[in-house]
Amino acid sequence: MVQTSNLGYPRIGDYREWKKTLESFWANEINEVQFLKQMKDIRLYHLQKQKEKQVDIIPVGDFTFYDHVLDTAVMFGLVPDRFQYQGNAVSLSTYFAIARGNQEAQASEMTKWFNTNYHYIVPEWSGQIPTLTENKPLKAYLEAKEEVGIEGKPVLLGPFTFLKCSKGYEQNQFEDLSKALLSPYKQLLLELQEAGVKWVQIDEPSLVTSISDDEMKLVARIYRELTQELPNLSIMLQTYFEAVTHYEAVIGLPVQGIGLDFVAGYEENMQNVEKFGFPKDKVLGVGIIDGRNIWKENLLSVQVKLEKLSAMVPSERQWLQPSCSLQHVPVSVKYEDSLHPLLKQALAFGDEKLEELQEIKQFMTAAVSDKETIMQTNQDIFTQLASSEWRTPVDDKPEDIRTKRSLPFQERRVAQEEKWQLPFLPTTTIGSFPQTTDIRRIRRKWRNGELGDMEYEQVIKQKIKEWIDIQEEIGLDVLVHGEFERTDMVEFFGEKLEGFAFTKNGWVQSYGSRCVKPPLIYGNVNFIQPMTVKETVYAQSLTEKPVKGMITGPVTILNWSFVRNDVPRHEVAYQIAKALIQEVQELEKLGIEMIQVDEPALREGLPLKVEKWQEYLTWAVRAFRLATSDVLDTTQIHTHMCYSEFRDIIDAIKALDADVISIETSRSHGELIYDFEQNIYDKGIGLGVYDIHSPRVPSEEEMRKVIQRALSVLPNDLFWVNPDCGLKTRREEETILALKNMVQAAKQVRKAQTVSN
Ligand code: GLN
Ligand code: ZN
Repeated sequence: MVQTSNLGYPRIGDYREWKKTLESFWANEINEVQFLKQMKDIRLYHLQKQKEKQVDIIPVGDFTFYDHVLDTAVMFGLVPDRFQYQGNAVSLSTYFAIARGNQEAQASEMTKWFNTNYHYIVPEWSGQIPTLTENKPLKAYLEAKEEVGIEGKPVLLGPFTFLKCSKGYEQNQFEDLSKALLSPYKQLLLELQEAGVKWVQIDEPSLVTSISDDEMKLVARIYRELTQELPNLSIMLQTYFEAVTHYEAVIGLPVQGIGLDFVAGYEENMQNVEKFGFPKDKVLGVGIIDGRNIWKENLLSVQVKLEKLSAMVPSERQWLQPSCSLQHVPVSVKYEDSLHPLLKQALAFGDEKLEELQEIKQFMTAAVSDKETIMQTNQDIFTQLASSEWRTPVDDKPEDIRTKRSLPFQERRVAQEEKWQLPFLPTTTIGSFPQTTDIRRIRRKWRNGELGDMEYEQVIKQKIKEWIDIQEEIGLDVLVHGEFERTDMVEFFGEKLEGFAFTKNGWVQSYGSRCVKPPLIYGNVNFIQPMTVKETVYAQSLTEKPVKGMITGPVTILNWSFVRNDVPRHEVAYQIAKALIQEVQELEKLGIEMIQVDEPALREGLPLKVEKWQEYLTWAVRAFRLATSDVLDTTQIHTHMCYSEFRDIIDAIKALDADVISIETSRSHGELIYDFEQNIYDKGIGLGVYDIHSPRVPSEEEMRKVIQRALSVLPNDLFWVNPDCGLKTRREEETILALKNMVQAAKQVRKAQTVSN
């Protein structure tokens, strides 16, 4: 009979108790013994839950105190030199120091886990010889067996993906390092076999990225070596987030099971199974439940997929499972008592997804008449949703709105220079100013109804005024209102647009103990009323200097939300864009004619396979242009992105046709300047001249050097001076000092330039 299996369970707990445990440990409110005990309780509770939900094959070792990639690194003793690691099991304090830094040493870098919003700690190689310091999956296996009576499936990050996710080596060392990793991996697996483990899940999501033939050959060598002495241990080689790139080679690997994603990588994976077949001696992990989104599965399409597969792979050799670990979805819908019932019944978070697995399993083996009832109940959910007014098909085409400015940049630039009369090297900021505990408290009080609208608005106005004065005093050229009314740049707009819903407890882990609560885009997105006009116009009324309007872009809103899956993503992006252009025009009407449309999440939406980039970039650019093109020639559109890897998407960035772009560069200056040297960017550009992620106040001289360096390669008259990103996480004093220095730096360079002219 078909079995059900899970790939990983959310760590954060029903009420984020995991986060609380971590943070109270870091704050010394609980000691190590208490910490370990509380963590163990959470871990066992998760196992218990999965057992109750009748998952046949339950993952163990997927739980972590911070991040599973970091777990893998420390398990193999790969601790960066600066932490003075002496060998043997890595202590908790070292573990957290690598993740978060300490007095003496900087934390390891953190980066996005494939195309998700989860961030892992990047393992650092510096000549260490990897050894097995502690067999974590084995411990987890034994614990689950003893305490919960579960024959668990240890989960392990595979050597190829682990190396791909690490840094500190040259490409030509890859193979040697993979060999060095083999011995501790082997030892780990041998110990599992010894302990009687039947199945182990080895995650190799890198197999879905655009890897070369040679790399695939290396993967084959790694697995041949790895599996040599494991007659009694079965390996489920698990992939996810896309279709595997080298299907034939992957199914030929000497493992007992291959897990494929039949949600994100459905078409390609299915075509490959149909074309090349699936080995008779292997189990197919059928990732049938979307582990990346929060919607219930449509049983009809599940049935189609499973029937197709069952024609090729007998059901005894199938494991029904989520498409990836459930860590990317919230824990349970159960806590959402204020969502519309029609919407709520269509949702499945982690726990409900496990229930769905069981339902699908039952459905597949049910009698025909029962099947009909089950199917009917499931289909009703979707018909009701589809016929709701939220999803009434919209008949207007995106072509109804302009996607092109009426003048090309070089021509509208003249009109803009005339209008704005900005000095050489105009100075500005990215939008937000420090969000003090005070302002956060006020916002919370207002949300809870403890503070009236009028009083709240008064406080916000006061804050705006305070910071307009500060900006004037500092001498910035283009001011902002400060975003004091916003908790989150997506939530703020989502709450004011039609088509968005917000959960009470729909948290997912972003990195470490930090969780985010993405909005749900469940229906057509529409503009209802102006969202940013009041604050911006008020700010503008206080100063002669221009105040930049501040809007979150369509692609970022999309990428940071859970999105309806009944229409293509680009359609939702266009809908958001069409709502945003209305906001832009409202601002314009009231005299706010410099408007920044932030797209910090544009890059992270890039598909994992390079072949698919163009399609994504084409619609992403189009969405941005929909949101920003139908404006006056004199209206200056800014955009902001905070990352530095531009090289590969520079054409798309140019195609946005923004008048000014501000980007993060201070942590990677040389590299980016080089990019721009190679690839002349011919519109306004502000290279961040200081790193806002650090509390350090950079000196005037330091920033002056950065500016001068940039000026030596960039067209000088299009250059802006600004920090790397928004300042909301900084403290007020340090922000003021840093901005003062930044403005002074710009002035010094201006002076030097006038003299030399
Ligand atoms: N305007 C936003 C801010 O300043 C931009 C944030 C971001 O780029 N992530 O906070
Ligand atoms: Zn930013």
